[in-house]
Amino acid sequence: MKILITYILLLISTLCYSQNNIVNNTEFNLDKFSIEICKELNIDNTSIIIEQTRGLIFGKYYAVSFGQNKSYIIRISDILKYQESKDALIHELVHISQLSTNKLVIIDHRTIGFNGSLYQVSEETHYNDVQEKEARIIAETITKIMNKNGYKW
Ligand SMILES: [Zn+2]
Repeated sequence: MKILITYILLLISTLCYSQNNIVNNTEFNLDKFSIEICKELNIDNTSIIIEQTRGLIFGKYYAVSFGQNKSYIIRISDILKYQESKDALIHELVHISQLSTNKLVIIDHRTIGFNGSLYQVSEETHYNDVQEKEARIIAETITKIMNKNGYKW
């Protein structure tokens, strides 16, 4: 009996604590999709708000993510259609997993830490930054895994 109660309490605590709080404020149905991606990326106990922004963000980006301490915001441009928004969301969630594990640390607007090393970043070379290269590779891998698992996009 005591063991059973322990198991039930453990199950309840697992259900209560091992999940994310995702608020989707976009026009698209991204709820189930973002939950699936978080599972693949082992993002846990994290609060994520997904918002849509008019036009390009800072005049040049289709999507950005920021935040700290398990609380993040993802902004996606309303220029992107549904499927493009999903692709952008996977990419941004990879950044959130990089941030939440402290693999990626934003030192200031010119300096980042990645895997324990410091890097100078610039807006011009943003595409080639280490965290961007990794985000593209992981996002592609996750897309393949979800396709293989028969995920209906
Ligand atoms: Zn990126």
